[in-house]
Amino acid sequence: MTAPKAIVLFSGGQDSTTCLAWALDKYAQVETIGFDYGQRHRVELDCRRTVLERIRGGFAQWAARLGQDHLLDIGVLGQISDTALTGDARIVLQADGLPNTFVPGRNLLFLTLAAALAYRRGCAVLVGGMSQTDYSGYPDCRDDAMQAMQTALSLGMARPLAIETPLMWLDKAQTWQLAADLGGDSLIEIIREDTHTCYQGDRRRRHDWGRGCGACPACELRAAGYRRWRDGV
Ligand code: ZN
Repeated sequence: MTAPKAIVLFSGGQDSTTCLAWALDKYAQVETIGFDYGQRHRVELDCRRTVLERIRGGFAQWAARLGQDHLLDIGVLGQISDTALTGDARIVLQADGLPNTFVPGRNLLFLTLAAALAYRRGCAVLVGGMSQTDYSGYPDCRDDAMQAMQTALSLGMARPLAIETPLMWLDKAQTWQLAADLGGDSLIEIIREDTHTCYQGDRRRRHDWGRGCGACPACELRAAGYRRWRDGV
């Protein structure tokens, strides 16, 4: 039996880095996919490269399993959505309760592109950091949407494809714990120093939980999770 190959949706953030470690622990061969969609902070794309290099350099067993990285240019996303992640708008909650960082259907598009690549690369598993626990409630990160996508992609490509979401039911403190369980202090250090979460693209300010402005919703969530994890509450 050949062990399944997996592709990880890898953005260079805390969640997708933890998912990458999870996949490297579980699958014999792992590739990564990222998307360049005109993010207003290019720093995310630099973080991807740094994290991959540090994982290759710091974990010999994982380095042997870590294959090709694919960066897809999907600038078209900027044409169809004018939101705080791609434009200059301030981050606020919209009338429907979703933050204006929500790009409608973005994760569905990412999964479809990743599935097409998986088909070509002979991978039967997609791994993504979607979570419905303590995030802002993006509907395309929810478990029911993931189940539906898994069915649609498997049927539409006439090949079984599993979508694995190891963080789906974890909060941010448990996500730090998962990283510690998988890669110990060295992985925690990579996540603190080299992954990027901040919506403002701030890499200059350094905190115990990592780099960021410290005030945007993404920084607040990451900082609160780190403190709960560190203090064991
Ligand atoms: Zn921030």
